[in-house]
Amino acid sequence: MSQLLHAIEEAKTIGISGHRRPDGDCVGACLGLYNYIKDVYPEKDVTVYLESIKEEYKFLRYSDTVNHSFTDQKELDLFVVLDCADIDRLGDYGVYLKKAKKVFCVDHHISNPGFGDFCIVEPEASSTCEILFEQFDYDKISKSCAEAIYMGIVHDTGVFKHTNTTRKTMHIAGDLIAKGLNTSHIIDDTFYRKSYAQNQILGRALIESIQLLDGKILFSIITKNMLKFYGVSGADLDGIIDQLRMTEGVECAILIYEIGLHKYKVSLRSNDYVNVSQIASGFGGGGHIRAAGCTMMGLPRDVINNLTLPIAKQMKDAGLIEASEI
Ligand code: AMP
Ligand code: MN
Ligand code: MN
Repeated sequence: MSQLLHAIEEAKTIGISGHRRPDGDCVGACLGLYNYIKDVYPEKDVTVYLESIKEEYKFLRYSDTVNHSFTDQKELDLFVVLDCADIDRLGDYGVYLKKAKKVFCVDHHISNPGFGDFCIVEPEASSTCEILFEQFDYDKISKSCAEAIYMGIVHDTGVFKHTNTTRKTMHIAGDLIAKGLNTSHIIDDTFYRKSYAQNQILGRALIESIQLLDGKILFSIITKNMLKFYGVSGADLDGIIDQLRMTEGVECAILIYEIGLHKYKVSLRSNDYVNVSQIASGFGGGGHIRAAGCTMMGLPRDVINNLTLPIAKQMKDAGLIEASEI
């Protein structure tokens, strides 16, 4: 039996949580585990604690039971933290972590220092969902559980496209498909579908993008006024950073969007050379080698300047640019 199932068997009350602004992998992992526990251990008292989740994820079974407040402040036997690189990124749900008798962390962020009583961090895994799958007993995975896990893998691999997609990832995806999933529905409806307003802001971000270092860096800035103009939120910006990254000649893409006064959420992506996790970690964030993020203060100009300096240094070390170009 896996370490995680052992911990679950020993617990009566279980909480499951993940990072703030939960993405597909985070929601898929939390609901995948919840579904598994509900199916296999119906006697357990289990709750998922997460910030609000996107409409497109709500087809997942039990998504309507997610607790979005942190009012009960239960003292849990076991608190499982998924897809979360550090305690700060749990936001308000950190209260459960402090009170829980046991904390079990499952994650794939290279920047995760390891926390909790049990911790499985596998930076080479495509997603937290991929690691979770291996903790489960395959025969006991229901179709509903498989849907959640498959969705998480689809999202963190950009539909099996990013460099984190391995032979193992594809094997696991195949095993999940064998549970009878409607994969094109999951991929189109949760990953590719965009609203009209989302497409408009994507277009605006691309039109206003700016090239640096001969186009090796491409950045775009989204202000609060722009979000207001198109009637969208930060959650509607998915996909923009990837389109910047895929532009010909780009090694590193930067998207910053305003979340407060002189406060920006930064997304970083790279193609072959730049370790963006290292860049983001330098500003208090983290992530993966080719996809990372952080929050920065200052004017947009300062934020971009502060980011491009260490990126350019890495590019020089990789031989992409001359020292004189920095
Ligand atoms: P994003 O650009 O927000 O999609 O994030 C890319 C990756 O970096 C994701 O795997 C995030 O979990 C991680 N990440 C983003 N922001 C932060 C942060 N402030 N601290 C640690 N990791 C982050
Ligand atoms: Mn995530
Ligand atoms: Mn993830």
